[in-house]
Amino acid sequence: MSGKTPSREIETLFREDRTLRAVVVDVAGSLSLLTRDQLDHEMTGRLGYGRALNARGDAAALLPQTGSALPPSLDLQAAAAAVLGLPEANRYQDLLVLAADGPRIVPVSEVFEGLSDVFRQAALHDPLTGLANRRHLEERGPSLMAGHGSAAAAILYVDLDDFKVANDTFGHRAGDAALRSFSVRLQACTRESDLVARLGGDEFALLLLDVDEPMARSVAFRVLRALEDPFIHEGHEFRLAATLGLAMSTDVAADETAAPLEYLLRHADAAMLQAKLEGKGRLGRIDPFRPVTRFARQALIRRRLPHALSSAGFSLHYQPLMDIATGACPGVEALLRWEDAELGKVSPDEFIHLAEQSGDIHAIGRWVMDQACAQARLWADAGTPRAISVNISPLQLAAGSLVQDLQSALLRHGVPTSLLNIEITETAAVVNLQSAAEQLRTLIDAGMSVFLDDYGTAYSSLAMLRDLPLTGLKLDKSFIDTIDTDPASAILVAGVIAPAKAIGLRTTAEGVERETQLAILRDLGCDTAQGYLISRPLPAEELDGRANSAEPPPWRPANPRRVGREGHLQ
Ligand code: C2E
Ligand code: MG
Ligand code: MG
Repeated sequence: MSGKTPSREIETLFREDRTLRAVVVDVAGSLSLLTRDQLDHEMTGRLGYGRALNARGDAAALLPQTGSALPPSLDLQAAAAAVLGLPEANRYQDLLVLAADGPRIVPVSEVFEGLSDVFRQAALHDPLTGLANRRHLEERGPSLMAGHGSAAAAILYVDLDDFKVANDTFGHRAGDAALRSFSVRLQACTRESDLVARLGGDEFALLLLDVDEPMARSVAFRVLRALEDPFIHEGHEFRLAATLGLAMSTDVAADETAAPLEYLLRHADAAMLQAKLEGKGRLGRIDPFRPVTRFARQALIRRRLPHALSSAGFSLHYQPLMDIATGACPGVEALLRWEDAELGKVSPDEFIHLAEQSGDIHAIGRWVMDQACAQARLWADAGTPRAISVNISPLQLAAGSLVQDLQSALLRHGVPTSLLNIEITETAAVVNLQSAAEQLRTLIDAGMSVFLDDYGTAYSSLAMLRDLPLTGLKLDKSFIDTIDTDPASAILVAGVIAPAKAIGLRTTAEGVERETQLAILRDLGCDTAQGYLISRPLPAEELDGRANSAEPPPWRPANPRRVGREGHLQ
């Protein structure tokens, strides 16, 4: 239609053909789309009396101010942006796409449908390699497995060895190029029906469908062999190796509650970790009929940990701290206990470092402070006040909110600062010494004791004693173990206790199990002892039971006294 065509003629055209949605108007060689809605709008005019006027005009006068024609070269996102840039009234009109083979009318909805496909594709794929991502594997994997009925499936977990070193040595671009070409090699090792996913970083997973164990193993060896050829980037040649872990769907025990794909991923990951420890560059396989191994257990702990707080799986046990000179136990150490429906009892040595890795330690730490304060209040109200020492992770100290967190727990339960102490451990995580020192100083000034825990283990150093404000040291059990059998050990302990006393620090011995150890510690002037000899860590009620029982424990509680509710940290 030419721009000169009278408006009336166009209106007649639309009236006669109710299915006609739009006409293309050529105004001096440039094409525009005139839709039925636009025609109605323009003919009627804004005030409703334009029809008579406009009927005399031509097609060009009816065209909207802003064009609706798009070049075919526009990608979907740019096309969507162009649509959104149109005036509100025109955004829902069809578009004219000026393709080489002639103009084509495209509904706006098509552009946005196309765009959502692009986003869906992006959400399910790794942008670097174009492989499926973890979400894709987790979303599509179960239905792919179900599609093969009862046939066995396998997950091969693939982790490149020392990839970080290669990245640091040859640069990130070389690293990215290697990941891309490795993903091509991985695909060449599998069948069309298998799913190859990049889980992140240098970790990949292959979901192999309809395979038995020998077939899955042969895929694994193909992957290992595919790494024999070097990677070449900008003239540099470098080699990469990988460690693999295999889990078969036939491993899944009848009582396994986790979904099969999740189980396979976890077990293949654990098998890979185990193979890494055994020397890398190989295939790991965990015997499905052996009890859950350490690695699989760790993987399960990582998964269960976030639910432990909400599912009431945590509790605190309390272990008395005995004043060696008087035999009284004015304080206890709170030790975290976790009993999980799937894992059973999990010791803090197993889960604290995993909680530190995952960041769950912050919520757990606040829960411990809160529980300890609630218990301190109960004991104070019962007339048997006990100071409670809580263990603080270096990460809680590093987060900078320790004073605030302790203060809110104390205030919530109306507990004076003298009834709450903390034990900190040094690790590499104490990065900001100045901030750590300031927080500890605030706590000490408010009347709390701050003990350096596990003194004598790998991390503790004399520098810590100099740089951190402390009120005492806890000598690690490994120090105390041989104090009564090995004279050198006793000399070492003496060499810690004397200088500690000289700089005004109190000393506590951990893991005291024998009277002979206690006697030597008394001679060396150690202030406090803790260990199975005195009592194991117990739930609060059991500790109360022991304290009140007719048969006196080797220790007696502090003299009853009244404890007020005051106490502030700052
Ligand atoms: P720790 O703070 O050095 O606690 C002492 C550990 O030694 C406790 O282990 C305790 O049960 C054990 N123990 C005490 N006396 C004896 C003894 O006579 N013989 C032997 N063999 N062991 C003894 P547990 O409860 O397993 O805790 C281990 C570690 O986990 C703790 O070492 C502490 O570092 C950490 N932990 C425990 N609770 C928490 C917590 O609430 N937060 C943080 N961040 N760490 C915690
Ligand atoms: Mg401790
Ligand atoms: Mg300790």
